[in-house]
Amino acid sequence: MESSSNKSICGDKRRTVGEFLAQFDLLELDDNLNYENFCLICDKLFMPDEIEQHKWRIREIFRLFDVDKDGLLKEEEYKIFCDWARVIHKPVSALLIVDVQNDFIDGSLSLRECEYKQDGTDVVEPINRLVKNGRFDKIIYSLDWHPDNHISFYENLHLRELHPESEVTKENAKLFDKVMFADPCVEQTLWPKHCVMNTWGAELHKDLTVAPGSEQVRKGQNPEIDAYSVFFDNSSKVETELQNILRKSAVTHVYVCGLAYDVCVKATCMDGLRLGYALAVIDDCCRGVNSNNTEAAKKLICENGGLVTNSDDVLAFVNDGKRSLVMGHHYAKAMTSSSLSANGV
Ligand SMILES: [Zn+2]
Repeated sequence: MESSSNKSICGDKRRTVGEFLAQFDLLELDDNLNYENFCLICDKLFMPDEIEQHKWRIREIFRLFDVDKDGLLKEEEYKIFCDWARVIHKPVSALLIVDVQNDFIDGSLSLRECEYKQDGTDVVEPINRLVKNGRFDKIIYSLDWHPDNHISFYENLHLRELHPESEVTKENAKLFDKVMFADPCVEQTLWPKHCVMNTWGAELHKDLTVAPGSEQVRKGQNPEIDAYSVFFDNSSKVETELQNILRKSAVTHVYVCGLAYDVCVKATCMDGLRLGYALAVIDDCCRGVNSNNTEAAKKLICENGGLVTNSDDVLAFVNDGKRSLVMGHHYAKAMTSSSLSANGV
């Protein structure tokens, strides 16, 4: 059944389309895929409980690929389906560990002192378990890494003018208030001075396992702009090294964990989803600043196509070939949408 033409359709040098689809025991498939056979393939790819819960996503993925709405995936539609199925079947996975640094755990911006009273040390053991046991293709640690005169520090409020329309003035500003600066004209939360580059507070926690061959991405070095996301600064204009690292390894699936859930983890997840990565946040490996904001962050991540999961499931994804329909759906959207860029395809 494998002709030279369908070899080129999927463009896989190692495996023909027929061999690929034969893995799903659907030997009679040709390169016109109807919805019924598409469902059979999805049954092989995804977890039964997730299919049960999110049956509509399978219909939606088929609809995304079936551009001419004739009920069949053929030619270019079939090629995109094959590209998608190959990625879902064999994803390239990265673990992204956000800001597990002393200042957020025991230092000047300790989560224990914040509204939610969470303990940042709680993430260290489950993250170490993932680092030790998970077969990730890439492991990346981010570090909040500020100069002494950084705009986000409450202690530096005297260094810059506030915008005349800033609701909070210099005279009445308190820690954690939001102010509007004049130049650059940005809204900024006033954090206690934290993660000053090359100080103890900016070091990764001493008990966090740093994997051999892993990468580190620093953010927030520009004194005039904060950087919550590990992808971009808060202007969304200046990129960190993260995308280069992910592109070099052709990463398709990103698993995010660390501190703080409702600030840097949230911003990183939102950018990752916007860029088209299949993305999950690892709930038991994150801790937040504020309880309401943490719940809102999870909701926002779900609404934007991300999966909220736990470390046991992540180990099953990267070690045992378990696959998430929610992540697969987002990857299909990224491949077929002009506003999302599909990475690694
Ligand atoms: Zn910071």
